[in-house]
Amino acid sequence: MPLLLAGGACLGALTATAPAHAARADAGIVDSTRHGGKSVALTFDDGPDPDDTSRLLEVLRKHDVKAVFCLWGDHVREHPELVRAIVAGGHTLCNHSMHHDDLAGRTPEEIRADLERTNAEIRRAAPGVRIPYFRAPYGSWGKSAKVAAGLGMQPLGWRLAVGDWEPPGTDELVRRIQEGVTPGAVVLLHDGGGDRSATVAAVDRIIPVLRADGWRFDKPARRG
Ligand SMILES: [Zn+2]
Repeated sequence: MPLLLAGGACLGALTATAPAHAARADAGIVDSTRHGGKSVALTFDDGPDPDDTSRLLEVLRKHDVKAVFCLWGDHVREHPELVRAIVAGGHTLCNHSMHHDDLAGRTPEEIRADLERTNAEIRRAAPGVRIPYFRAPYGSWGKSAKVAAGLGMQPLGWRLAVGDWEPPGTDELVRRIQEGVTPGAVVLLHDGGGDRSATVAAVDRIIPVLRADGWRFDKPARRG
């Protein structure tokens, strides 16, 4: 269950926690693409899921689009092979915490332990992989943005959420994305935490529509 607070859902960030790739990140929450202009960044939260993540990867491969996957640590433990499939597809990883808990009331030490454990689970599935972003569950950041930045992960927000957790159906999702997209927007979608088949179907339809209208697909920005 992807929880959404007012108007939001889950957030993420970038991390290169491993000393070998220690990347700098800024504690500011990013909600825009790297190159701006008529571009969008697709981000998918709460997976990996054996059904919807697998189908989504096929859809993204078919359209040659790279996305960001904000991974839920418990789901990583259950489906490590899907983490490897995401990485093999050329996509970017984002830490979405171990248990999808609301981190707002947690101390920095507690948050750090959670994020480090999540990264360890991700890297147990895909050794050495970069995790450049962190997104807080429910967009409930508390002290987690600063902690994530200290671990080399850029806090990742979003500018467009379309309520795919409801879910409103594929046609409505396509309409909401098409009408809601703005230049440089990070778009929040879900590939786990429930039946996300409508989201996968909507992504399959909206990519060619956006491309035909001149939109490009980009990664989220990093400030560090
Ligand atoms: Zn989430």
